Amino acid sequence: VVTAARAGRTQEEVRRHNLSTILREVHERGARSRAQLTEATGLNRSTIGVLASELAAAGLVREVAPVAKGGAGRPSFVVRPAKDVYVVAVDVGVDVLSAARVGLDGAVRAQSRMLQRRSNPSVTTVVKRLGRLVDEVVADAPAGATCVGVGASVCGTVRISDGMVRLSPNLGWVDVPLGRALSDRLGLQVPYALGNDADLGALAEMTRGTARGCQDVVYLSGEVGLGGGIVTSGRPLGGSGGYAGEVGHVIVNAKGRRCRCGARGCWETEVGEDALLAHVESDRERGRGAAEAVIRAAAEGDRQARKVVDRVGWWLGVGIGNLVNIFNPEVVVLGGLLHDLYPIAQHRVQEGVAAVTLQAPGEVVRLSVSELASGAPLMGAAELAFEPLIADPLGALEHQAS
Ligand SMILES: [Zn+2]
Repeated sequence: VVTAARAGRTQEEVRRHNLSTILREVHERGARSRAQLTEATGLNRSTIGVLASELAAAGLVREVAPVAKGGAGRPSFVVRPAKDVYVVAVDVGVDVLSAARVGLDGAVRAQSRMLQRRSNPSVTTVVKRLGRLVDEVVADAPAGATCVGVGASVCGTVRISDGMVRLSPNLGWVDVPLGRALSDRLGLQVPYALGNDADLGALAEMTRGTARGCQDVVYLSGEVGLGGGIVTSGRPLGGSGGYAGEVGHVIVNAKGRRCRCGARGCWETEVGEDALLAHVESDRERGRGAAEAVIRAAAEGDRQARKVVDRVGWWLGVGIGNLVNIFNPEVVVLGGLLHDLYPIAQHRVQEGVAAVTLQAPGEVVRLSVSELASGAPLMGAAELAFEPLIADPLGALEHQAS
């Protein structure tokens, strides 16, 4: 919250900024009384009243008179996010496609998913499948409900400006125009936004998961390889092209295996799905299910599986230690396959971290499994889709109406 005089802004800019602050507060934290909003924003109560009425008139919040408790003083109106404002979120994973209708309060109103085989599907096939999933989740949206955006998460590097997937080794995609194909298929006249699955996992965990309230976060997603979403001082680390955070290709083991990227000893060759399956007989099924089976077997005391999981745990810790030294995060969030692995290998992971981490950054970091688990990228896609509305509530609605 800023005053016009201090920041040299016009009254109109300040008003829009404050509307955004209030909408973000109720979007992220749910129903808030005017008194709570006053405390959270530093704005006075009558200003909150005026701004909340404006958001209510725009259909973005509802103001509800609280139930009287018989105490002294005026009752404080409660401001709730509107129930019928939603976004469509989709997640393009290697093994699973999913779609959800997510309300402005962050609640998933409808969700649909389908498994797909690892067969390098064409973008046409993927978008056709996503289209069907989206049709399902919007079908039972209440009459008069408003869709304000579409967000998509994809396991690959994405050019943010136009939703071009530059590279997704696991889908076999190079320069695939997913954003355009998706908007052509869905036909919704709303903003579309695409992001990398690990970046969006980080966003979701910061908004509604274990990294809530944190400003410096490393999110790691174990899928086939290893993806990373890094946030420093509250800002996602994008790099000049938006491709930063490819932590899976940090070299950790010079004597390690050859990676799909061509280098030797990349972190993901030591902790990815193939590392969990490296010692499994070749005739057994590979893929996500097989990797999960190794983790389960280790938990149940299978010695061979235990050895593999311990080894992966150690290398996971070594890589995390390097990231802790560079980024000094408050929390490292473990998502995807690592969400299941960490509780089983916690001891070895911590040994690896301790072997590498410098004392000062090591003292402050917390390791945590993802609270949203496999749903983190999808929920992050929803947050991404809400962002234009929340950044400028009235501007976004005017833009959509025109
Ligand atoms: Zn590599």
